[in-house]
Amino acid sequence: MSTGAAPAQLTASGSTRAREVALDAVRAASALSAAVRHELVAAHSTTKVDRSPVTVADLASQALISLCLRAAFPDDPIVGEEDGALLRADPDGPIARQVRSHLMRTGVTGGDSLIADALDRCAHPGGPGGRFWTLDPVDGTKGFLRGGQYAVALALIEDGDVVLGVLGCPNLSLDPGDPLAPSGCMFLAERGGGAWMYPLAGGPATALGVTPPPSVADARMAESVEPGHSALDQGDRVARILGLTQAPLQMDSQAKYATVARGEAHVYLRLPTSDTYRERIWDHAAGWLLVREAGGVVTDARGERFDFRRGRRLEGNAGVLATSGGALHERVLEAIVQAQAA
Ligand code: AMP
Ligand code: MG
Repeated sequence: MSTGAAPAQLTASGSTRAREVALDAVRAASALSAAVRHELVAAHSTTKVDRSPVTVADLASQALISLCLRAAFPDDPIVGEEDGALLRADPDGPIARQVRSHLMRTGVTGGDSLIADALDRCAHPGGPGGRFWTLDPVDGTKGFLRGGQYAVALALIEDGDVVLGVLGCPNLSLDPGDPLAPSGCMFLAERGGGAWMYPLAGGPATALGVTPPPSVADARMAESVEPGHSALDQGDRVARILGLTQAPLQMDSQAKYATVARGEAHVYLRLPTSDTYRERIWDHAAGWLLVREAGGVVTDARGERFDFRRGRRLEGNAGVLATSGGALHERVLEAIVQAQAA
């Protein structure tokens, strides 16, 4: 990693405004989510934690980013994970009140319908043509609740191709090699413009690049924490077939893509837990571009290119394999076939 020229000088897309708006929106939504999380710990330290705090963070983060995008690009549709149904059904309930209160602190002063409308604006079906954003307001909700990793994930798709991706990772260390380094990273990737990391608290960008492991056995593999999201038993078989010597790096959210992009891991493996589950585009678009722009390779777990043209889900794909590239990618694909046949 090296502190490099400002991304503005490197970008090929020339869409400086989209980049600046996306960075500002993700930075604000990351701070909001971290504040909700902080209050959750304070409020629930002696009681059982339920899902409501993550619902507050999800809805407020999505509403905030939707409003930021609407102000800058009123005609851009959004493919987002959440909608306004819960707020419309119970506008005076505790979730709606907390969403309003957290948004007010960021300067959003409109009433219930402004917030619910902002959420409902994210129901775009996606598809092969035109320009749209895709948003996961809090990716890795289980990590959010557990005190692990989570990410605010925003990407811009033009004619089926991801051209811009931003990840806000409030709990991710800025320097994995330094236990005393502060947490809070933001990642930026632009098609043809490279991959970059910023401190969420502000400061200059650092250029990122994947780092091939000295040998396959030295490769570090990142995977989900949740066995319901990735077949961890099969992942373990893949690791044994490859002869990996390091324990896997288990973490929630698209932060896993970031670990490959910055050379902390060499493989991110996500193996399907069922034949019918289809990955959501907002769970992968930003991370996919980040690893590619850092010089890595991303396919699904069968070696197919991700197809972002088929709606809100990756209908033609199954699982994920992101690597630092080269022969390693093919080698892991072979090991997946062997592991699945066993
Ligand atoms: P991770 O944090 O990498 O474990 O992934 C979190 C994401 O997994 C969530 O955003 C969900 O959209 C997604 N997810 C939910 N169910 C499944 C499933 N059965 N297989 C794969 N991903 C899933
Ligand atoms: Mg998600």
